Amino acid sequence: MDGERGRAGGRGAGGSGGGGAVSAATASAGIVELLPPDRVLTGEAASEWAGGRDVGTVLFPADTNEVQALVRLANETGTPLLPAGNGSWLGAGGWTRDGGAVVSTSRLDSVVHYEPADLTLTAGAGLGWRKLGAVVEPNGQWLPVDTPGVGAGTLGGVAACGVPGPLSGRYGAIRDNVLGLEVVTGDGRLLRIGGRVVKNVAGYDLVRLFTGSRGSLGVITRVSVRLFPRPGADVTLVFGGGLDEALEVARVVRVTSLPVAAAEMVVRGTGDETGRDAELAVRVLGGRAEVDDVRARLVAEVGTG
Ligand SMILES: Cc1cc2nc3c(=O)[nH]c(=O)nc-3n(C[C@H](O)[C@H](O)[C@H](O)COP(=O)(O)OP(=O)(O)OC[C@H]3O[C@@H](n4cnc5c(N)ncnc54)[C@H](O)[C@@H]3O)c2cc1C
Repeated sequence: MDGERGRAGGRGAGGSGGGGAVSAATASAGIVELLPPDRVLTGEAASEWAGGRDVGTVLFPADTNEVQALVRLANETGTPLLPAGNGSWLGAGGWTRDGGAVVSTSRLDSVVHYEPADLTLTAGAGLGWRKLGAVVEPNGQWLPVDTPGVGAGTLGGVAACGVPGPLSGRYGAIRDNVLGLEVVTGDGRLLRIGGRVVKNVAGYDLVRLFTGSRGSLGVITRVSVRLFPRPGADVTLVFGGGLDEALEVARVVRVTSLPVAAAEMVVRGTGDETGRDAELAVRVLGGRAEVDDVRARLVAEVGTG
């Protein structure tokens, strides 16, 4: 491929401007020509979108049909594709081959179905995590995922990464709360797996297989998830001190059976345990009165938080 393509905009949000120069390692011309220039990034613009990674080309299909067309042609021409969301954590899946392209789902960002009474939502894989929050929070609902950096991602990207955070002890990991997926497989076929409302598995649980597959099995184009009522109060108590003190707090939290939603310990320094600093963060969720009660009991047991 030669020439320049138009700029698709920062993190696929749309826009206009000059395109990046095409490097030798960009996708085959045929694939790039499937989309209008304003939905293709190349060269420096592509690297900028990918947070400095040399990804060659980034493609922004606007619907599932376009994803299928891209994947089919890539399959025919032997062009490697890396599925992506906003490109906020592309290293999760690895990108080792030249001459390929990133396929960002960030344009597939509409809410397809949201039923607050059922606590379920189906949306395009590219729905931004913060936009998802803006849709469901007015109804006092949320999808509790607290892996680092989640706010920069997309619903599909978070499902594709599939990493559990501290809150998964209470709510389950994202893998437990993805009810169904639409996926374009490596040969361009469309798979609809799981359901929109309930976890309904007969035979192999392909939803769990694709959740956490990090782009290795296909492009996730649509995701159905289970939501939860958002607790009225959300308090994180941080207990600092030496490692021994932090471990003692952790022990107390465990044996007192307080309704703690999540806990995470950060240990600073290296070497043996003597003199190392540590902090234990304890997150308490619930009604205001319940959270105040747990906080008071924790502080009474272990000291100031
Ligand atoms: C600064 C920062 C730090 C982070 N630290 C951590 C961490 O410590 N631990 C952790 O678990 N996570 C971490 N994350 C990841 C984060 O929790 C989200 O999972 C991630 O941001 C999702 O981003 P994204 O939607 O832009 O996906 P991308 O960054 O575009 O892609 C992430 C991975 O998911 C795949 N993928 C994305 N979308 C799709 C799709 N539609 N179909 C198929 N595959 C897809 C990609 O191939 C890639 O492997 C971090 C993110 C950031 C920004």
